Amino acid sequence: MIVSKFGGTSVGSAKNIQKVLQIIANKKKKTVVVVSAMGGVTNLLLEAARIAENGKKGYLLIIEKIQQIHTDLIDKLLNDSNQKNCEVFLMVQIEALKDTLNGVYLLKDLPGKSAAKIASTGEILSSFLIYNFMKQESLDIDFKDSRDIIRTNNAYLNAELNYDETYHNIKRFFEENTSKVVILPGFIASDAQNETTTLGRGGSDYTASIIASAIEADLLEIWTDVSGMYTANPRLVKQARPIEHISYQEAMELSHFGAKVIYPPTIQPVLDKEIPILVKNTLSPQENGTTISKNVNGNHTTVKGISHIDDIALLTLEGNGMIGVPGISKRLFEALFLKNINIKFITQASSEHSICIAIDNKEANLAKEAVDQQFEYEIIQHKVNPLLIEKDLAIIALVGDNMKSHQGISGKMFSELGDNNVNIRAIAQGSTEKNISAVIAAKDVKKALNTLHAAFFEDHIKQINLFIVGIGNVGKKLIEQIHQQKEFLLSNQHLVLRIIAISNSKLMLFDENGIDLTNWESKLKAKGVKSDLNAFYDRIIELNLRNSVFVDNTASDKVPNYYAKYLKQSISVVACNKIACSSSYANYKNLKFLSKKYHTPYLFETNVGAGLPIIDTLNNLIASGDQIIKIQAVLSGSLNFIFNNFNAENSFYDVVKMAGTEGYTEPDPRIDLSGVDVMRKILILLRESGQEIELNEIENESFLPPGSLQAKSVDDFMISLEQETQHFEKLRINANKKKCQLKYVAEYEQGKAKVGLQLIDANHPFYNLDGKDNIVLFFSNRYKDQPLIIKGAGAGADVTAMGIFGDIIRTGNK
Ligand code: ADP
Ligand code: ASP
Ligand code: MG
Repeated sequence: MIVSKFGGTSVGSAKNIQKVLQIIANKKKKTVVVVSAMGGVTNLLLEAARIAENGKKGYLLIIEKIQQIHTDLIDKLLNDSNQKNCEVFLMVQIEALKDTLNGVYLLKDLPGKSAAKIASTGEILSSFLIYNFMKQESLDIDFKDSRDIIRTNNAYLNAELNYDETYHNIKRFFEENTSKVVILPGFIASDAQNETTTLGRGGSDYTASIIASAIEADLLEIWTDVSGMYTANPRLVKQARPIEHISYQEAMELSHFGAKVIYPPTIQPVLDKEIPILVKNTLSPQENGTTISKNVNGNHTTVKGISHIDDIALLTLEGNGMIGVPGISKRLFEALFLKNINIKFITQASSEHSICIAIDNKEANLAKEAVDQQFEYEIIQHKVNPLLIEKDLAIIALVGDNMKSHQGISGKMFSELGDNNVNIRAIAQGSTEKNISAVIAAKDVKKALNTLHAAFFEDHIKQINLFIVGIGNVGKKLIEQIHQQKEFLLSNQHLVLRIIAISNSKLMLFDENGIDLTNWESKLKAKGVKSDLNAFYDRIIELNLRNSVFVDNTASDKVPNYYAKYLKQSISVVACNKIACSSSYANYKNLKFLSKKYHTPYLFETNVGAGLPIIDTLNNLIASGDQIIKIQAVLSGSLNFIFNNFNAENSFYDVVKMAGTEGYTEPDPRIDLSGVDVMRKILILLRESGQEIELNEIENESFLPPGSLQAKSVDDFMISLEQETQHFEKLRINANKKKCQLKYVAEYEQGKAKVGLQLIDANHPFYNLDGKDNIVLFFSNRYKDQPLIIKGAGAGADVTAMGIFGDIIRTGNK
């Protein structure tokens, strides 16, 4: 015999019930079918009960809704003659429900007995309607009310089974029954007085398991709305996949820690008889599903699944008077037991100075009252502190039979969580070592599940979540490159880069699942909201995604004010914006410090030489113990472009204008032409080589005439360049005469740094510097006579985007 249980979604619509019929009709063996209420109906019933208890008439609307759901089903599934019969049955049940709820409403009291009666309506209706439908479709089927055979005590909502009587009843019934299929309602039972009881929320699974065990079935099938027991809750972890085979113990641990797909008490009855459980998807029956059984052969992974429990409160009992005093834990547990409070997790410090217990949020206040009362004497004596309560927490657990024989799993678990700023409040390892569980903040659950899932199940594929501010020339190119490289990164680097948010100065757009990069510009226009750096930050924190990276492609002086906030949240920062690194030394140092403290990269390779590996090379020199003696560099791609193209045909003004339209200058060209940009760059190189130096310590002899230096706006500045044509011509002709090139050079030697325009003769390595190229000569202890030279394109959206891209990938290797 087979016992097949169908859950709420499986019987939640006419279409799905047709699927159930197909599944049952195809069975060769005798099949016992256990059904839940139609999806959502039990919740509606209990909501109606609560409304009535509060003395509100609104419960009547809910009854109407429940009636409508079932009337629709009758209309769709049954032919005329059966419809009548079922409509009468429905009316009778609805009237009984109304009577019970009316009693609750009048007394403003909801005793367990009434609650169980109300909640049972869902299964009573679904089982009867499905029975009639299956009979109509010519199945050889019988109906049996579970309340006639499943006996419990009178804890109405979470009733405990009377094994002997129940097993006896079930056996006797099935010994005599000869039909091919028998259908029964799940969840409901009765006590010795024949009052209706229920087996706890999700209890239909348990009904099926009890029957399977009593009749020693060959198989217990749990038909639900997912294709098995997954490596993590598939609603929260997209990458989760069904576990092919799992042991009873593992399934028990996973369900105990919140994998709702199986109600925890379900496992024990079939485990005792070694009856396998098969979890299958009614909506997709061709898929294999999960087999739960005693023997798990084959190449078993150590961690089988990850689960979590929401709505947890942590109780901490501490006190100096607890050390070495026998009986404290006993009294603590007793106090909770007497109030019927279910303990989900226990951990005790080895000093016995404190005990932590996790329970349901809802029971926290009751627990505090009970425990403080129990220890009243010790609290007055200051031997024990009043019970400490923290709410809004969750438990997250790794489960696997083989975890005990593998070292390093908990280490990996905690370092992965730590790297993603998930704070761990308490840790417990089950004595059987089949689970490691931790208490974390409720808001971190999704991130923690996804982080751990990636670490333990995803073939080392790393997902990086990007939040990009600034989508001008550079930002656009960056998005284009990320889009283009998608396949390559996945297959070669096991990396997935998702852009979760983009923002320019006007609009911002978020998509938790990653913005579609084929049409991001029109999406931003159509769906973007007004941009706001604070709101941007708040939303990132709220999303709380693992491996988050904030990317600053702007030249704004406002955006860098947020870097510290991001780093403190373990969100990496990648910036081509140089403002932060070239601001006060204290600010620069603080960001470096935060990056180290929070183990979170702050990368800015593109601050100097766009995509050229200048800062990275410098960092490698310093890290390996070298020291910088001298730096000579042309660090302004824009100035190099300008002076290379400045000739008899093109006036200085023309060339500056051209550099602007090509995107080689900063949005404000004064920053380039005044030399400030180059000052910032040499400052950053010096700071990265270990010097404590400020911007005003760098000497800057400007080549601009006073009129241009004093210009108040970009427009005024451009006008001044045109007016001062003679000034620039003089510079050019003088250089020509001396057979020299004009280069804007940054230099550092013997503690002094300066920037300025220089005449470079044909023998100098700078002489042949083309177009918008940059060049840096590092003289160090190791590179004394011949400098280490880095040369190449040092400006332009393409190469800058490439440099940012590189930094983003580097955050993934933290
Ligand atoms: P039914 O009504 O069929 O009993 P449930 O809603 O009780 O269905 O259980 C199925 C649900 O369990 C899934 O839709 C899923 O959201 C949730 N779930 C939680 N953890 C897991 C897991 N590890 N594997 C599969 N499903 C899970
Ligand atoms: N209908 C009940 C509930 O929703 C039992 C079940 O579905 O297993 O809790
Ligand atoms: Mg269920």
